[in-house]
Amino acid sequence: MKVLVSVKRSVDANVKIRVKADQSGVDLANVKMSMNPFDEIAVEEAVRLKEAGVADEVVAVSCGVASCQETLRTALAIGADRAILVETEQDLQPLAVAKLLKAIADRERPALVILGKQAIDDDANQTGQMLAALASLPQATFASKVVVADGKAIVSREVDGGAETLALTLPAIVTTDLRLNEPRYVTLPNIMKAKKKPLETVKPEDLGVDVLPRLRTLKVAEPAKRNAGVQVADVKTLVEKLKTEAKVL
Ligand code: AMP
Repeated sequence: MKVLVSVKRSVDANVKIRVKADQSGVDLANVKMSMNPFDEIAVEEAVRLKEAGVADEVVAVSCGVASCQETLRTALAIGADRAILVETEQDLQPLAVAKLLKAIADRERPALVILGKQAIDDDANQTGQMLAALASLPQATFASKVVVADGKAIVSREVDGGAETLALTLPAIVTTDLRLNEPRYVTLPNIMKAKKKPLETVKPEDLGVDVLPRLRTLKVAEPAKRNAGVQVADVKTLVEKLKTEAKVL
């Protein structure tokens, strides 16, 4: 069984984001970029399926600029077997990525596609769902457990107020939530080995996909600054303040 896993190069989770002065977007100059954390979980899950003998090949895909190769090399160091970069300078919106992943899936015919539930830069939480719709495949989003057996994926998914379990007939699409697994640390020997693994580059045109944006960003702004809180001496003062200052009682 082949598993396709998507990895996005996004701003590192520890970076404090700055909005550009002209409010056209987020300042990416000299900012550390890493693999989207939910995609690390996706790669880890795919590699665990391979280690368990359920999957026999893990293919990582990234869409974006040439430096997404670094992100793909990380996926290869975690344990993916080969990588595909869909290279473009165009800013990609979720629909464009979903179309590219659909084209790659048509070519690769994976039994399972694992994506992150969302990219921490655009927070869109759309690509997996759009891919499932475009490919007419069953989907389970926000997965916290995945078991593959007998042509099915049994997926526990995080929902409001608990967990839901779905049985998907393969091929299927799964998106990862935080509790699915804890990704391993990438070791130096594996980073060295990853350099020798195959990495193919294709262009959106080769796949016949139009990646032009369909949405226009009007303005990006910092959230309003919150006033600092105050500590009150006792419950009596708190109630007094809630009555007279906050006026919520
Ligand atoms: P989003 O819908 O943008 O929040 O992204 C959800 C998931 O789609 C991510 O966690 C990735 O697995 C995948 N994805 C989004 N953009 C890209 C990209 N440019 N390259 C590869 N995968 C992507």
